[in-house]
Amino acid sequence: MIHTLFPTAAAPYRGSPVHYHLLLTDHCNLCCTYCRGKAFLPGEIPAGPDLDLDWNLPAELDLDLGRLYAFLARDPSPVLTFYGGEPLLRTDLIREIMAHAPVERYMIQTNGLLLDRVDPDILLRFSTILVSLDGPRDLTDRYRGSGTYDAVMRGLRRLQSLGFRGEVIARMTVAEATDIEEAVLHLAGCLAHPFTSLHWQLDANFSEDYRERDFARWAETSYIPGIRRLVSRWVEEMGEHGGVPRWYPFLDTTEDLLHKRPSPLRCGSGHANYSILTDGSLSPCPIMAGMKAHYVGHIATSDPMRLPQIPVGGECTGCHLLPFCGGRCLYASILRPWPAEARRTVCATVQGLHDALAGVLPAIRGHIAAGRIRVEDFAHEKYNGCEIIP
Ligand code: SF4
Ligand code: SF4
Repeated sequence: MIHTLFPTAAAPYRGSPVHYHLLLTDHCNLCCTYCRGKAFLPGEIPAGPDLDLDWNLPAELDLDLGRLYAFLARDPSPVLTFYGGEPLLRTDLIREIMAHAPVERYMIQTNGLLLDRVDPDILLRFSTILVSLDGPRDLTDRYRGSGTYDAVMRGLRRLQSLGFRGEVIARMTVAEATDIEEAVLHLAGCLAHPFTSLHWQLDANFSEDYRERDFARWAETSYIPGIRRLVSRWVEEMGEHGGVPRWYPFLDTTEDLLHKRPSPLRCGSGHANYSILTDGSLSPCPIMAGMKAHYVGHIATSDPMRLPQIPVGGECTGCHLLPFCGGRCLYASILRPWPAEARRTVCATVQGLHDALAGVLPAIRGHIAAGRIRVEDFAHEKYNGCEIIP
């Protein structure tokens, strides 16, 4: 094991623009196995103070848009990310908000199914589009439903044909059917789409499904070794092509390793990233919609520049990896859907990522010294919806 290269944990900070997720609708036109599909599995996270859910939260955006604009106007540089459910089911609201909100930069997280029919003027206003796609066709369709891969590819080709110039991030969800190396290299090498960047997230410690899963064996025998090979491949690409592939789990973490800089929670939830729920309530993270004990305010009464900052606690507090990891996931650290032994298998993947990256730092520094790449090539937008630590 390579010990973490950071001296201390970081306190939450606000060095970047605040990113707001705006939840337009709870409805979705897919039922992915790792998302809505889990609603049909047995087992629930037991109710308790942390899961005292607000069952009255509207399924569609139901707030005074004037209040939303007044709230956003108090932030000098808000970034607004449309989120759902599937936000492209509500292009009427997107158009309305883009016409009137005091916001320069818009982003969207979409499943991509409707990208081929959204009006070009809306699509071209986005600075970043995050599109869910899990890897090759068979894998994507297995997780997300037959025909999904081809439908998303149609939408991505349309984006290309419209001349979209912003960042297009593939958001991959990764579980036991995934060969991480194959999945990442498929999307990284596929010329038929306009992805500029890749991000992946493990389906782990998210719902109470550990007993039905084969996660520990898969993580040890497939995922962690695959990450080691991918890290090597990433560094080879730097040497061969001069440039840093924008694979977020490596990019954000390595930039900090190079600067010997500890990180707060890398997704930004609760310190640089907040969610505006359908009734105007504010939560630290979009997945915490309805967890009213953890709301941080409301657009009608809160100052966006003074929202509470929520630190990650629990077992992360004393963890030697905290400066690298940042705590991985605020939602998971509060609800702890998996038992302690299972959570340790997730943390082993963080250790694996850290060790793989720490192991290639001398080679990366060598590429920088030789002028093949620059430290600035690791620069990227922070807290843009990529969770960073899978
Ligand atoms: S999620 Fe795990 S690895 Fe990360 S800081 Fe918390 S305990 Fe450590
Ligand atoms: S990593 Fe966890 S806290 Fe962060 S956005 Fe995702 S679910 Fe929320």
